[in-house]
Amino acid sequence: MFNKVLIANRGEIALRILRACSELGIKTVAVHSDVDRDLQHVRLADESVCIGPAAPNLSYLNAPGVIAAAELADVDAIHPGYGFLSENADFAEQVERSGFVFIGPKAETMRIMGDKLSAIQAMKEAGVPCVPGSGCALGDDPDANLAMGREIGYPIMIKASGGGGGRGMRPVFEEKSLLESIALTRSEAGAAFNNDSVYLEKYLEHPRHIEIQVLADNFSNAIHLGERDCSMQRRNQKIIEEAPAPGISKEMRNELGTLCAEACKRIDYRGAGTFEFLYEHGNFYFIEMNTRIQVEHPVTEMVTGIDLVKQQLLIAAGQPLAYEQKDITLAGHAIECRINAEDPYTFLPSPGNIRSYHAAGGRGVRVDSHIYSGYAVPPNYDSLIGKLICHGDDRLETIARTQNALREFVFEGIKTNIPLHQDLLSNEDFRKGGADIHYLERLLDKG
Ligand code: ADP
Repeated sequence: MFNKVLIANRGEIALRILRACSELGIKTVAVHSDVDRDLQHVRLADESVCIGPAAPNLSYLNAPGVIAAAELADVDAIHPGYGFLSENADFAEQVERSGFVFIGPKAETMRIMGDKLSAIQAMKEAGVPCVPGSGCALGDDPDANLAMGREIGYPIMIKASGGGGGRGMRPVFEEKSLLESIALTRSEAGAAFNNDSVYLEKYLEHPRHIEIQVLADNFSNAIHLGERDCSMQRRNQKIIEEAPAPGISKEMRNELGTLCAEACKRIDYRGAGTFEFLYEHGNFYFIEMNTRIQVEHPVTEMVTGIDLVKQQLLIAAGQPLAYEQKDITLAGHAIECRINAEDPYTFLPSPGNIRSYHAAGGRGVRVDSHIYSGYAVPPNYDSLIGKLICHGDDRLETIARTQNALREFVFEGIKTNIPLHQDLLSNEDFRKGGADIHYLERLLDKG
């Protein structure tokens, strides 16, 4: 096992990683920006290093700074968490070149899966179903592009191969705007991702977002841990996630999960990962793979009983997977609400001092959060201040438990999106299950 791990992240996920390390007897090093000195994991870590000012590109995204801290603290491995450097293949490569273990897949695998087109290619070869589309980068011939559009049929989604985080996507509803939209997406992608390659995909009008969690080791073992439904989204950002997905049968889960586990073996995948799919009219379509731990991983932990972050550490330390597929069973239902420091209806960020804070509790209630009374939420980062994860015997019990827990929270001094969660959990369509990815935006538009 590792002796010491550097946590290259902040907030709730840094604390989550610290907890897993401590349970495994691993020492921790927190790296933080100057406004993040008071984060809980910085106080709890065995060592901490300030790596720069608040601006993420000068601290959490500064790869040489993170590696210098790893050298200074003499760690064995670096856990990147999610966001920041977690899907940066060049960083993973530099980490390994500097003699540390990168807790994640190999840099080559990250490169293939980090580019949407090469990921689609790899998944097609592995027999994983993808959204109908061009399947290759568009050229400059307008007639060929128009013909491709006609073949796919409208509406169409133009996607940047290097896109991510909900950026680099543009739906097109009529042929007359195709060429102009391709040019626009291309120039935006070139500026934002330094890669102007774009492709076409069928725009699915009412899909659900369903994703499969996988774990794979260095010895060609790979398993899936079932699915999560993350259809409650605003601007392609997830707000509520749950496991299992309403209406997905054991057979469907096993069929899709097995395809993903097999795909892991083909691409020589290592660590925890997620295959994201859109699901419409009974069919699954692969959209992308996330080669890291995800924000919503706790719902899978609650229904499988498996600690995914500990598994990441064990796999990275070279241990074979302790589970076979037959060991994985799902018990009950879990729902996660992302708690953001923001206005619940205008979504304007609400940073500032939390004068007083009281967390929910009780049977089946888990709160993953780094905040405490007197903590000041800095304006420089994502507005996520915590996650409420509830587990119950079935979906309705879990909804009731989540509603109670949301009522118990006290936040004084900042606004949170808890009122929006309360509205959603009492919403008839949410309670039925199976709402599509545009449901929340339609609801918000209605006001
Ligand atoms: P990113 O890497 O930016 O997260 P994804 O490819 O994962 O991009 O897509 C993010 C979200 O965008 C999906 O969850 C879905 O809401 C929407 N989306 C992506 N592809 C399509 C499509 N072909 N049709 C309709 N919606 C899509």
